[in-house]
Amino acid sequence: MLDADFFRRWLTATAVAVDREADRLTELDSPIGDADHGSNLRRGFTAVATVLEKEEPGTPGAVLALAGRQLISTVGGASGPLYGTLLRRTGKALGEAAEVDTAGFAEALRTGVDAVAALGGAAPGDKTMLDALYPGLDALTESFGAAEAAALDGALATTPLRARKGRASYLGERSVGHQDPGATSSALLFAALAEAARGGGAPEDGTREDGHGG
Ligand code: ADP
Ligand code: MG
Repeated sequence: MLDADFFRRWLTATAVAVDREADRLTELDSPIGDADHGSNLRRGFTAVATVLEKEEPGTPGAVLALAGRQLISTVGGASGPLYGTLLRRTGKALGEAAEVDTAGFAEALRTGVDAVAALGGAAPGDKTMLDALYPGLDALTESFGAAEAAALDGALATTPLRARKGRASYLGERSVGHQDPGATSSALLFAALAEAARGGGAPEDGTREDGHGG
């Protein structure tokens, strides 16, 4: 069963991964965007890790709702409201349960991913974060490791696509040949999920520098 601590470790591991990969995410956002995806998400997930350590919400739903609100309020740019919506809507779907099993989480996460698609008006194949989110989600009932691999494959498969949504779509045909930054960060979210499932992502794994865990 997945409890509030598991979801805190997921988002803490995401913050560490985003911090580590921020330069690469921004580089991917240079040719087909405005070179801010890494700095956007670093700001957002650092704030998420900080607020989760401070407030320690007690249920999975409350952890995700708080994290989503924090992303929306700290990240300018398309990805803030989109990832914020993903977490908020997933959290809302989990309700007030103290624990959830993997199947229940996958069902709630589908609500969240569908909300991202509705908010952004995008569909799979449009060269957005959805191209990693849906494959990861679809593989989640198999295992966390399978979801990590499927999301990464989905991100890599955005390279030959032509962008139909977001800033990259302004480039039309010239968006072809570049990996989508948002799909790449979505793959990091699934990698962090697999890490949390292996027991990683505790605050002392990287976000705190004073040696005191949460
Ligand atoms: P901005 O484009 O405002 O600079 P970011 O650079 O932080 O925001 O995020 C860009 C990423 O957001 C893209 O790579 C893409 O994956 C995702 N994205 C942009 N628009 C949409 C949309 N309408 N639906 C889904 N994802 C989107
Ligand atoms: Mg950008």
